[in-house]
Amino acid sequence: MIIVSEDGKSFVEISCWEDIITRPKYEPKVDKEQVKLKAIIGKYYLSPKHPCGISSCGTAHNKGFLVVCQGGIETNIGHDCGRNIFGVDFKTLENQFNQDMNIQRYREKIKTYQSRIESYVENIENLKNGDIGGIATYEKVKWFMTKGFETNTLNALERKAKLKDNRIFELQKMDNRDIELARESGNYETHNKVQIGLLMGITAAIDYKKLKTLLQVHLSEEVDKFKSINADTLSYKDLQFWHNWANRLDKRIAQAKEIIGECKSFLNDKNISTIRSYKTHLSN
Ligand SMILES: [Zn+2]
Repeated sequence: MIIVSEDGKSFVEISCWEDIITRPKYEPKVDKEQVKLKAIIGKYYLSPKHPCGISSCGTAHNKGFLVVCQGGIETNIGHDCGRNIFGVDFKTLENQFNQDMNIQRYREKIKTYQSRIESYVENIENLKNGDIGGIATYEKVKWFMTKGFETNTLNALERKAKLKDNRIFELQKMDNRDIELARESGNYETHNKVQIGLLMGITAAIDYKKLKTLLQVHLSEEVDKFKSINADTLSYKDLQFWHNWANRLDKRIAQAKEIIGECKSFLNDKNISTIRSYKTHLSN
């Protein structure tokens, strides 16, 4: 467990009851009529059980809060007691405490990622313009998916991409006897669908659009911004944004790689000629 200090800025780790009861301002029994709660400074889950610091309660518990009262006195309150005894005010203090904890967590995450950002920048540069060549790949797929095929073909490719279906079918007319037999069992189809080919990297037909935002915004503009932010002075909202951004960074790089891979399969000469030669079959 971590104890947050009263100013919400520094933190102390604690791991046992001893760490709590030896704190200089700790009182094992506090009269709830005599004290006014100022802040929650810690949340714990400890073994063995220990009596609640509210003198009229004293119930032994594992889970609760370390609180500081007016005058600096500290005590421990069982998990349910806080809200039962102090009601809404306790809930407000709990929210404040959770926010203080989050602020600390967010700052740590942001600073950790900032310290590693140069190696990320190198990987991203390789992803965009180096060996992986994401930007050039994006431009090529964009050309094919806007100018490289006829409208019908483009629509069919997009539809297949949405369904993640890479199969090409031919419709073969069933013979009359088979049609009759099918009807008897309530099936009114007249054609069989026969698979005659496979497309490569079909999801690239729509996912290439995601690459633009990934490479130009999340992995370029936002990386530059991230390098220059100061986690100690950001608002809570900005801390939350950049913490989540750092959390997603690895995932976004992996996603970009995956889409680029699909795009390269899609751009394969053999695949482009498959699309052209089967263009009338793509909507089957
Ligand atoms: Zn209690």
